[in-house]
Amino acid sequence: MANNLFESQLRQLDKAQSILQIDKNIYEVLQHPQRVTEVSFPVKMDSGKTQNFDGYRVLHSDTRGPGKGGIRFHPDVNLAEVKALAAWMTWKTAVVGIPMGGAKGGVICNPKEMSSTELERLSRGFIKEIAPHIGVDKDIPAPDVYTTPQIMAWMLDEYEAITNKKEPGMITGKPIELGGSLGRDIATAKGGAIVVDDACKHLGINPKKATVAVQGYGNAGHNMAILLGELGFKIIAVSDSKGGIYNKAGLDPVKVFEHKQKTKSVVGFTGAESISNEELLEIECDILVPAALENQITAENADKIKAKVVAELANGPTTPEADEILHKKNIFIIPDILCNAGGVTVSYFEWIQNRIGEYWAREEVFEKLEKRMITAFDDVLAICKENKCHMRTAAFVLAMQRVAKSVALRSCHH
Ligand code: NAD
Repeated sequence: MANNLFESQLRQLDKAQSILQIDKNIYEVLQHPQRVTEVSFPVKMDSGKTQNFDGYRVLHSDTRGPGKGGIRFHPDVNLAEVKALAAWMTWKTAVVGIPMGGAKGGVICNPKEMSSTELERLSRGFIKEIAPHIGVDKDIPAPDVYTTPQIMAWMLDEYEAITNKKEPGMITGKPIELGGSLGRDIATAKGGAIVVDDACKHLGINPKKATVAVQGYGNAGHNMAILLGELGFKIIAVSDSKGGIYNKAGLDPVKVFEHKQKTKSVVGFTGAESISNEELLEIECDILVPAALENQITAENADKIKAKVVAELANGPTTPEADEILHKKNIFIIPDILCNAGGVTVSYFEWIQNRIGEYWAREEVFEKLEKRMITAFDDVLAICKENKCHMRTAAFVLAMQRVAKSVALRSCHH
């Protein structure tokens, strides 16, 4: 049965609630998205025909600040998924302590089969529909799966045309020339690499002797492979939607990326054997990094996972059933709402820079990111030890505590 992602998210909340025991009326608020916008809009295709596309923007919570979360273009986008992803953004922004809430958007489409001009019209069309609900002080989109800085540029341009004013902070992940932040391109992976390094220190794993497998070689995955490679980890397997590659002696992640840029896939890289995405997950390695889509580690394959650490760079890669199995196997999970929070953290830095009209050096951005990621990791680990719970539940405890506090202060549960 396909996993309903929003239900999975609710089960994660329940686990944390059993420790936290938040006031029931406040807990009721935390379980529901504040606003769901469902749209259907026409796009003129290159053939001259008009096609309608369906999309969503969900604001899960803006109690701690304006909504924040990416927009996904993918054929499998559905409302339960967008609601779950929006909720995870609420918990993620709270884990890293940034003054923002949680939101997410998605359009059901297959960008791989669309031309650049069709994608531009789709991006503009979607923004036209959701424009009343977004803005620098309301809800701020960003890139996610199969959306790029160019797509953010079209969305910004459309929004500014509608509102007739400059408002670069209404969207993040923009090209640098339009107010993007230095470092945003690799921020998700950078944050992930910082917490993997921390986890290794905590577990006594020597990076120079550790092996890594990465599922998904997009923005998050390929940058993670490169950054972990720079820290001394040996990348032995990577994959994308077309399949995977493996070399026990180690792969050069930069060369693999160049190969993917040329051929559109990691598959066929010289000096590596081909493996399937399922095989990649089950490979003998120290660190497994799911960096593609949700529901990849399930009750069916969790028992076969051999990694010591699962670093969730993707959102929702592990089902609740698989979570239990991994815990029984003593596998240390760095949960998505902590592991991939580097992206939203630097998006927040981009938003600050847009608002003050002053731009920071790359090193300054990374210094600030590192401080936040290390603090978040330490905070979650401390809760873990105090309550004798796992990292995911500890991250939810930290986040829910913070969100519940602001709901209580606003008295919005009355
Ligand atoms: P992307 O579009 O840049 O890359 C997605 C990658 O996943 C591609 O390499 C694609 O080939 C691969 N892929 C797709 N289906 C696959 C499958 N079935 N098996 C293996 N690989 C598959 O997207 P991204 O931004 O890197 O996002 C990846 C994950 O990271 C998502 O879960 C996203 O929500 C999460 N994430 C991204 C950011 C960000 O800043 N980009 C931030 C936080 C979380």
